[in-house]
Amino acid sequence: MRHKAEKCYTALAQPFDIDGTVISLTMKAGISHYPEDATTSENLMYYAKLALHASFHTTQTAIKEFKIETRDEILRTVQIEQYLAQALDQNQFEIVFQPKISAVQQKMTGVEVLARWTQSELGFVSPAEFIPIAEKTGAIHALGDWVLRTACLRWVAWKEAGVSPFSIAVNVSPLQFASQEFLPRLEKILLETHMDPAYLELEITESAALSYETATYEKLATIQARGIRVSLDDFGTGYSSFTQLRSLSVQLLKIDRSFITSLFEEKNQQAIVQSMIQLGHNLEMEVLIEGVETVEQADWLAREGCDYFQGYYFSRPLTETALMDYLTADSMDEHIM
Ligand code: C2E
Ligand code: MG
Ligand code: MG
Repeated sequence: MRHKAEKCYTALAQPFDIDGTVISLTMKAGISHYPEDATTSENLMYYAKLALHASFHTTQTAIKEFKIETRDEILRTVQIEQYLAQALDQNQFEIVFQPKISAVQQKMTGVEVLARWTQSELGFVSPAEFIPIAEKTGAIHALGDWVLRTACLRWVAWKEAGVSPFSIAVNVSPLQFASQEFLPRLEKILLETHMDPAYLELEITESAALSYETATYEKLATIQARGIRVSLDDFGTGYSSFTQLRSLSVQLLKIDRSFITSLFEEKNQQAIVQSMIQLGHNLEMEVLIEGVETVEQADWLAREGCDYFQGYYFSRPLTETALMDYLTADSMDEHIM
């Protein structure tokens, strides 16, 4: 069966010339097997459709065979996709805030805003699971707008309540960022919420989806000119070349947490992190390390000149109430490191 699907795929992959216009087609296929997977035509069709669905969530293969072992996983993906479509309208999302600590000031100078989703059937769903699905279905644009708008509204409310202002960093999916609508939507949200751009930071993930092209560089420069900071999230896991990195208007490098999990165990790991900090500084960027979980890591990173920290050692992501408590405690405690 796979063989037949592959033959169709190869045949369709050839560009068609229709009256001088060249058209390229791609194909996706889902396959189920009789009698291994099911014995009724309804079930066979259902499982083939599930496999087809799953093929949309993978970049590697256009042809996906149904596997009974992965049935639950596929079903969950399909369910998440369906529930995501109504989640915003049904107010199922929330945001939480994780403190970012300045090494120099030894206190919280900002927070990262993280989306949280709890759905009655599925329970808590991690953003690591639903964000990639939202990216595939396109729901990421409305969700991203909602997170940004909600975060800006909270910031303005804190300011009005007399809280000393600190920056808020909102994650922006590379796909959301690539949209032509991104800048106008950002501008609209800033206007509507009265957010001060000087306190806004956008975290863009370094990933294959971040296209290094003139439009991207221009967009980043426009954002910077507007007074908004941009950070490159999960740095080190993506694909930036040195030339690309030099051309990006980015003010902060956020080194991915995978680099410090084995800081004291693996040979050369410290040398790698030292070089990354130095690279950021040489490019006139500040450097933050994500995922700091122990005092040993925090001390070592402070000695190496890292500018900011984020991680469970300082604080887990907090609800708004817990954040306000944290701020009160933070202002009373001079030595949090
Ligand atoms: P991220 O932007 O790199 O966020 C950091 C993630 O690491 C968060 O996971 C945070 O809870 C977790 N983390 C922080 N400190 C530690 C630590 O010390 N140890 C460990 N083990 N983990 C730590 P979370 O909230 O599950 O988010 C996962 C990813 O989902 C985020 O990674 C981000 O890429 C994405 N995401 C979350 N909210 C949004 C959003 O509103 N929009 C977009 N586009 N993506 C989002
Ligand atoms: Mg982030
Ligand atoms: Mg990150």
